[in-house]
Amino acid sequence: MFNLILFGPPGSGKGTQSIKIAEKYYLKHISTGDILRNEVKEQTVLGKEAQSIINNGALVLDELLIQILHSVIENNRGVTGFIFDGFPRTTVQADALDQLMLKVNSAINYVISLEVDDDDVKKRLLKRADIEGRKDDNETTINNRLDVYKSQTSPLLNYYDKQDKLVKVEGTGSIDDIFESICGKFKD
Ligand code: ADP
Repeated sequence: MFNLILFGPPGSGKGTQSIKIAEKYYLKHISTGDILRNEVKEQTVLGKEAQSIINNGALVLDELLIQILHSVIENNRGVTGFIFDGFPRTTVQADALDQLMLKVNSAINYVISLEVDDDDVKKRLLKRADIEGRKDDNETTINNRLDVYKSQTSPLLNYYDKQDKLVKVEGTGSIDDIFESICGKFKD
């Protein structure tokens, strides 16, 4: 299998690049943000629980995310690989993901970190707020999401660097140029 994690602050372009990478390498794209937004839309038990957390820019409970990932991985046995977008976001989730991959006799190959500075990210998210109308793309929530990213998620860079899996990619520029530089990092 070929398994990737797309890593970066909110608004760094993880979703956009994940879709392109999934298409090129025939990977199953897993966006926990999309999964959660769908649960909210359907007003499932999980969706009702997650709604206010997401709108505040905080993180949904690790246990819930790990359960979701567990079933997605189990239900997709036989795929070429996975691209994880928005997961893991905490060290607890990262540990759990390593275990889940082990269970299917696999592992994460690369963690691609999209590097975009705070000001750019904020501009992009505020622009997206006008276009897509996501409830969590308002200034207060954006600031919270960036704080949560710094305190809870960015320590994972070190976690994956230690495993020698971390690849940094400049996340500003055209979508296609960024895509090319990501693909150029994979060794065959
Ligand atoms: P972004 O990367 O732009 O912040 P996402 O669509 O990935 O947006 O996530 C939106 C929200 O969904 C997050 O702010 C968080 O509340 C929740 N969420 C998504 N993935 C996770 C996760 N792995 N763990 C906890 N909460 C998550």
